[in-house]
Amino acid sequence: MTKPTIGFVGLGIMGQPMAANLLQGGYDLVVYNRTPAKCAVLESEGAQVGDDPADVARRSDVVITMLPDSPDVELVYQGESGLLSAARAGQLFIDMSSISPAVARSLAEAAAALGVEALDAPVSGGDVGAKNATLSIMVGGDPATFERARPIFETLGTTIVHMGGAGTGQTAKACNQLLVAQTLEAVSEALVLGSKAGVDPARLIEALSGGLAGNRVMEVRGRNFLEHDFTPGFKIALHQKDLRIAMEAGRELGVSLPGTALVEEMFAALQSSGSGDLDHSAVITVIEDRSDHRLVS
Ligand code: NAP
Repeated sequence: MTKPTIGFVGLGIMGQPMAANLLQGGYDLVVYNRTPAKCAVLESEGAQVGDDPADVARRSDVVITMLPDSPDVELVYQGESGLLSAARAGQLFIDMSSISPAVARSLAEAAAALGVEALDAPVSGGDVGAKNATLSIMVGGDPATFERARPIFETLGTTIVHMGGAGTGQTAKACNQLLVAQTLEAVSEALVLGSKAGVDPARLIEALSGGLAGNRVMEVRGRNFLEHDFTPGFKIALHQKDLRIAMEAGRELGVSLPGTALVEEMFAALQSSGSGDLDHSAVITVIEDRSDHRLVS
């Protein structure tokens, strides 16, 4: 069976390596990014470059979007030269950005009105998972559409779960993000407490990793904490956006999320002080500032 031509919009930290894996997997690719320079590497590897999202839709069977936030996805879908303006019945649009479940549902409805199948399929696993094609992919939408997209997902990730109807992938992602955020904050507290008491933080991570306190945040971000290397990774601004989405969902459903609220506030403070583009592991600096102690001098 011939592989579909895939359009890919949004070539940032995640989109760039994901698109590269699709090329590597033998898919023909048409790419587009707001800043055109980010298309250059993929173009040199064989991708075509579209003029705008509508052009990408015209030249593709399946379109994947990997954009920062809900308004960006709405613009790319519903803007003047948006995907839906050039959509054909039978196409498949997959949004892999992390956005509001309500927006995902409304975009799925707008697509369905044109005979286009749609999935929300946000991911976790970070830039490393994107590069190594080991992402965890949480998918919302029709089960038959999920099966249609499965071979594409298998080119990008290793854990692929159909969560339910439209928007449920985004709900799962919000749950993922509140867990990661609170783990980052808890690891920060442990490292600053240990370090100020004179315990070597690297040895602390080694010891804690073997027991019930072991976690993927220490495994993947341990070096960032220890060396104060806050090169993103995953930007604080994007994680704050995800916690805002989780808080909104909590309010809509009447679910109490006190821990999420606390870390959302810390991320918001970091953003206000100009640190929004740093990696989310920089949350440790909030604990350090309040404790008058740094892990590294
Ligand atoms: P990013 O590095 O900021 O990339 C976003 C890309 O989208 C940029 O290249 C940006 O172009 C492009 N873009 C924005 N608006 C556009 C538009 N209207 N038309 C075309 N392109 C547009 O973000 P990221 O880290 O890849 O994250 C993307 C999504 O994945 C977010 O929803 C994030 O929450 C989620 N996510 C990220 C990670 C992670 O570890 N980074 C992990 C899991 C999920 P410019 O170059 O012009 O800015």
